[in-house]
Amino acid sequence: MIELGVRERVAPDRVPYLAPLPRSTGKDATVTTLPKCPACSSEYTYEDGEMFVCPECAHEWSRQVEAGSTEQALVVRDAFGNLLSDGDSVTIIKDLKVKGASAPIKVGTRVKNIRLVEGDHDIDCRIDGFGAMQLKSEFVKKA
Ligand SMILES: [Zn+2]
Repeated sequence: MIELGVRERVAPDRVPYLAPLPRSTGKDATVTTLPKCPACSSEYTYEDGEMFVCPECAHEWSRQVEAGSTEQALVVRDAFGNLLSDGDSVTIIKDLKVKGASAPIKVGTRVKNIRLVEGDHDIDCRIDGFGAMQLKSEFVKKA
């Protein structure tokens, strides 16, 4: 005789060992957008001013981090390993050919107020005589 209901007998084993408890149905029930704890994945985080707090592992983190978590700080270094940041001035360390320009950007050219961007050419800048340019950080030196 074929035994039916085998699956039903197996099913209880598949219930998560620690099933999450339902959220409080009190006055906070509408607050469902709180992020899980990044440290222990607890769902019972609560807000404390500008911070989120996890009651289970005591981890605290700020709302700003949560909101901007997809935005990573760019780390761009010059040819000598110096950290560059927006607004820095740099010097070109190698003649750089420019598409469509009759002359290269000469070694020693000073470039003010750079802006770091993502990508292969990671510096946005403006060079006298050339206009808006994108440079590779490996060809510049922090001034
Ligand atoms: Zn936690």
